[in-house]
Parts: sequence; C-alpha cells; structure tokens
Amino acid sequence: MEHPLHIYNTLTRRKEQFVPLHEPLVGMYVCGPTVYGDAHLGHARPAITFDILFRYLRHLGYKVRYVRNITDVGHLEHDADEGEDKVAKKARLEKLEPMEVVQYYVNRYHKAMERLNVLPPSIEPFASGHIIEQIEYIKEILDHGYAYESNGSVYFDVPKYNRDFHYGKLSGRNIDELLSATRQLDGQQEKHNPADFALWKKAAPEHIMHWPSPWSEGFPGWHLECSTMGQKYLGETFDIHGGGMDLIFPHHECEIAQSVAHSGHDAVRYWMHNNMITINGQKMGKSLGNFITLDEFFTGSHKLLSQAYSPMTIRFFILQAHYGGTVDFSNEALQAAQKAYERMLDGWKRLNELKPSETSSVDVTDLDRKCHEAMNDDLNTPIVIAHLFEACKAINLVNDGKATISEADLDQLKSTFSTFLFDILGIYDERESGSVNLRPYEEAVDLLLEIRKDAKSRKDWATSDLIRNRLAEIGFDVKDTKDGFEWKVK
Ligand code: ZN
Repeated sequence: MEHPLHIYNTLTRRKEQFVPLHEPLVGMYVCGPTVYGDAHLGHARPAITFDILFRYLRHLGYKVRYVRNITDVGHLEHDADEGEDKVAKKARLEKLEPMEVVQYYVNRYHKAMERLNVLPPSIEPFASGHIIEQIEYIKEILDHGYAYESNGSVYFDVPKYNRDFHYGKLSGRNIDELLSATRQLDGQQEKHNPADFALWKKAAPEHIMHWPSPWSEGFPGWHLECSTMGQKYLGETFDIHGGGMDLIFPHHECEIAQSVAHSGHDAVRYWMHNNMITINGQKMGKSLGNFITLDEFFTGSHKLLSQAYSPMTIRFFILQAHYGGTVDFSNEALQAAQKAYERMLDGWKRLNELKPSETSSVDVTDLDRKCHEAMNDDLNTPIVIAHLFEACKAINLVNDGKATISEADLDQLKSTFSTFLFDILGIYDERESGSVNLRPYEEAVDLLLEIRKDAKSRKDWATSDLIRNRLAEIGFDVKDTKDGFEWKVK
C-alpha cells in the first residue's frame, strides 16, 4: 500500500510503520474491564479505540487474534498491593458467590459493548481461569532471580531488575527517585523495597478468593494476568498491546518487567494507549459525583445529563477526537455530536437516492485514498469523519440539482462511504427498524413512578405497592431515594 499503517508507539515515543511479526496474522492484547461495577464512560473509550484498530486491521486484510481479558481477581481496593480484592469485597457485602458478581457484571459489560457496536474480541480470558499459568510464570521469575518470597507472598524485586534492565522505560518515570523514596521501617513490611510489587499475595483468613500455590493459599497480583495470558494466547512476542493511558504506570511498566524477567525480552512490539475522558473539564471519579455509567447515558438518568444519549451518539462523539487526545464530555458537546451523527446518516440516505448522470461535475474519486491515508496516520478518525462530511457536501449539491455524478462515481462513492462509516468506524443507523427509540418507554416508566410517589404521599400503600411490585415483575429495579426515585432495567 502506498501509505502503510503507522501507529504511535508509547515505548519509542514516535509514530512507527506497523509491520506484523507473522503476516498475515496480527496478535493484539487489550486490558479489559475489572468486573465489580457497571461499565462507565471510561470503559467506552479504550473499547471503541481498539475496536477501530481491530476493524481496520481486518479491513487491511490481516487476520487478527484480539485478546481482551476480564480482571476478576487480584484487583485490590487500595493500590500498591494492599487492601481487599474488589470483587471479593462486593461479594461479601452482597452475600454472593464472587463468580456471581463477576458473571453479573460481565453480562452487563457485554450488553453495553454490543450497544456501542464494539465487536467481541477473539478470546476473552478470565484471570481466575489462569491461576496455574500464573503460578508457573512466577516460578520462572523466581528461578531467574528477579523475585523473592516473603511471608507466603511473592514480590517482584524492582531494584535488582533495574540494575540489569530498565524499569521505567515505558512511563519515563525516574526509578531512582522511586527507589530512594523514604518509607516507614516498621519491620512489618513484607516488601524489601516500596517499589516492589506483588506477584502472589497470601490470602488473609477472611479472604474468600484464594488458590493453593507453592508459597501460600492466595491469589495472583493484578499485573501478572496480562503478562501470562498475553503470552499464552499470542506467543512469547506479539504485535500490539493496548489500554488506557492510566494503565501505563504501574500496570504496563510492571508487565514489561515481568515478561523481561520471565522470557528475557519484552513481549510486546507496539504499545498503544488511548487518552482519558474528562467530564465538564474534570477527571471522572466516584468522589466527584461525575461517575456516569453507560446505562445512565443511554437512559439519561444522571443529574449531570440533560437528556439521554444513544450509544451511537457516544460512539460518534468519541471518534470525533483522535484517540491520543483528551475528550471532554458535556451536554453541549454530546448534543452537537448527536446532530453531526444524524447529519452524516442523512447524507448516506440521500446518497442512496441520487440519480446518476452521464458525467460527474463533483470530484469524489479521491475519497477512498484520503480516508485510507487518515486511518493509516495513527487511526485519525476525526479526519475520516471530516472527509465523509466533505462528501456529504457533494451529495447535497447533486441532490439539489447543482451538480452531477456519473454512475461509476456514484457506485464508488457508495462503496467508500459505507466501508468507512459502517465497517471501519462501526456506526449504524439507530433510527432504522430493528433499533427502537426507547425514550417514550422510559417516560412511561417515569410516569408510573410519579403516580406511585403521589399515591405514597396520600398513604395509598395498595397502589404504591402494586406499581412497584408489577414493575419488579416486568424487570425493573426501582429504588427510593431522598429526592424521589431511581430505576433501571435489571
Ligand atoms: Zn492489563
């Protein structure tokens, strides 16, 4: 191809031509969700970014093995290897089997991804399903001298590794500062150095998720699953590893150290990271009250949202920015994205109604090349979208009788337009039959709950209970809150 695909490699800090190790096969690993809560906006961006890469690589003719994991064990409440496993904590609080928590949120994650038209990965391995592999991986690192056992736990020896290799090469962090950081020497610390991280943690007696190992009944550290499962399914060295920028340190830095200590070399050739999403200029966070789940976006049921936003609006909005830049969500920006999305689909609809002429007075022959060029330039989706809007202008001119298009040009335009908009950007027409506008149904549920609220205020418990129980039977989860009520589909 004239302009081969170039992607920005976080490790080398420059755009590099993408050349797969085993053409036509491409191995691609992306860090997936931790499943102890509903998918939120922060999950949508990496999922959509790497969905675009997956789709585009396939469009270029590669066979892609796309692995996206499920973190269901070892993700601790506080960073730095301390605290309770988040899945286990949720299970304890809700009196559920941990795998019940995992399955519930995995199902909901899949549903949200499907609505965003994110293709399922080729393999979706669970950390808890790869304990044996992780134990074997730790044994190798221990054998090579880059880890130590301490009180039933196993820690990665960062200072020793850093003497032989370079800990910090991905994130650019100055490891000397990290290593010399002061610490309390209370004699209780299992780690030899605060920079060391857990490969295996001995489980406290009340801990409900644990497995036998040569060192203790325990569980693997979070960073280990991705090194282990990446190499298990994609080989000792594979092409692409992706994730959000927030994972560069410590998660991906630790992954590199683990695989170098295990295999003698980094497992990954191209490290790719999507930038983060802010909401009204602020970082997302539970404590900031701007932590909006995808379902809340789809139904509009969050106090920061002035309306519901459809999955395609969210997807289109994310694609209007390059994945390497930040994206700020606000109602105004989303409303603009919704309009742009609708305008684009109107263009497509009009395109299919155009009548060809003998000759073309619009020049659309370049569209295919320009769109490929933009995608080849580190997946520049906003430029692709701009080119498609340019084409919409030509379509409107022909539609208004101010220009003509030949049959051959028309066929080519249709083919390019649909390839880029539907196949590569993964947009579909939500207004078409098969996809339903849920807004009237949602308003009907709100109306029922208003009637119930009114009944309650009149102490008409029979009506209030009837509405609540019938809605529960139908499949709605209704919660009373300080200001009224909340509901979601169970
Ligand atoms: Zn990971």
